Amino acid sequence: MKQLNLIPLGGIGNVTKNMYLYEYEGSILIVDCGIGFPDPSMLGVDLLIPDITYLKDKLSQIVGMVLTHGHDDHIAGLPYILPQLGTKFPIYGSPLTLGFAKDRLKEYGIQADFQNLPQKPIKLGPFTIDNLFMTHSVPDARHLIIQTPETTVYHGTDFKLDLNPVDGRRPDFLKIGAWGNRGIDVMLCDALNSEQVNYSLSESTLTDMFEREIRHVPGKVIITVMSSNIHRVQQAVDVAVGHNRKVAFVGRSVESNVRTAQDLGLLKLPTKHIVNIRAINKINPKNLCVIIAGSQGQTGSSLTRAASGEHKFVTINPEDKVIFASEAIPGNEQNVYATIDTLSRTGADVTYSDIDESVHVSGHSSSIEMKLLMSMLQPKHVIPIGGTYHHMIEFRRHARSLGFPDKHIHLLENGQVVEIDQGKVSTSKTIELKNIMVDGLGVGDVGNVVLRDRQQMKSDGMVAIVVPIEVQTGKIIGDIEVISRGFVYMRDAQDLIDQIKQATKDTVKSHQGIVTDWQDLRRRIEKTVLSLIVNQLNRQPLVMTVIIEV
Ligand SMILES: [Zn+2]
Repeated sequence: MKQLNLIPLGGIGNVTKNMYLYEYEGSILIVDCGIGFPDPSMLGVDLLIPDITYLKDKLSQIVGMVLTHGHDDHIAGLPYILPQLGTKFPIYGSPLTLGFAKDRLKEYGIQADFQNLPQKPIKLGPFTIDNLFMTHSVPDARHLIIQTPETTVYHGTDFKLDLNPVDGRRPDFLKIGAWGNRGIDVMLCDALNSEQVNYSLSESTLTDMFEREIRHVPGKVIITVMSSNIHRVQQAVDVAVGHNRKVAFVGRSVESNVRTAQDLGLLKLPTKHIVNIRAINKINPKNLCVIIAGSQGQTGSSLTRAASGEHKFVTINPEDKVIFASEAIPGNEQNVYATIDTLSRTGADVTYSDIDESVHVSGHSSSIEMKLLMSMLQPKHVIPIGGTYHHMIEFRRHARSLGFPDKHIHLLENGQVVEIDQGKVSTSKTIELKNIMVDGLGVGDVGNVVLRDRQQMKSDGMVAIVVPIEVQTGKIIGDIEVISRGFVYMRDAQDLIDQIKQATKDTVKSHQGIVTDWQDLRRRIEKTVLSLIVNQLNRQPLVMTVIIEV
């Protein structure tokens, strides 16, 4: 029985964490390897990755991996997943996708066999894989056509049909039409914006927005974007330079992605107008534009530090303007709004999508474009991906309107196996998947963090500070408790303990950020107390803060 199995390990029902397996005759092809974002209940968890237990005893069957585009929920799982899979297979992608993927792996010192996707089909084991240009909110994105001798699947991951893309590379409609003519058995289709009825706006509309927003600003212009959205960066730079402003890039993700895209010729920067962050204080604010990381209000990002007056180079003043040319990823709203609040307190003019919807356009297709793509491809079966359940239900409504019978529209769960045999589709099997959480500090290496903590405990013990805080006011209510193990004999160290308590009180009092952002407050207390101990005793115990909400 020569059947093709499609197994989503992630990317269905929860928007992110994209990873799909294609299994045929004992060979496995992997599409994408993304991370997911934890919900607020997963305290201390930094990210989620797909559960690859299913692959553990099939490593030798993996013939290769193809990455569709450079978003984190499609590539950022690589540093965690590749070491478990071994890296003996090739990983294909477009130049920018691979550029971003390489940057991800470089931080971890992991090597991989990266190969550029050519414009013609490639062979990986029994799979023939063709690709075509597609437009999305990151440049150089691709859709895939995955074939076995019996079956053709259109892998229509994140897309919109942008007719005026910033780089002029429109979706390859001819190739889509040609594949429609040859026949598609199953089409996977990005369903995230299935509730939207109006054709999505072109990325290039942002130029007019930047023109309008930048023109009359008396001070600095500070723009924050998703750092992978190179076309938005390009438009911001072009408009800023047109208004006689120098441009500085601030923040690790922005600097790294800009460098990669520039090296590949996908971002064109007027070099003499680009300035180093260290030089910005010499420039008249009315001649300066800062493009800064932190559009999701991430704790410790350049933008949040600038907002709370803690950035070494970037200050925010009342005559400045801050533009959020972005949108909060679901789950990040609290952090984004808190950052907007903190920025607003500086007196600067802050623009974001709630007050001016033109500052952001979605990278995903509306129902019109989904229907267009389905009409061009005329697949026998359709599967909505990349959305939650209500997006899939809405997608089904649109598919029905095109004449698809319900038994040809398949709403899946992650782990649900799609068995495709002679054009027939069955979805009765499911493999069990767990939530795999990665717990570490920021983008740091989890293993290293854990090891460092253990090392510290072993040599210098640990100190725990228990701080009772009233949620409404953010003030300490009651007594701070200091507990230590293997650090100092507490009865002989009353003086030090009093100082630790005082330093904790001072830190809580000066905490200007979000009242309920305990993670940030905890880190600040730990930093202050540690430096106090280092100064007094020249020892480095592990310092932990426990905040108790009262
Ligand atoms: Zn995407």
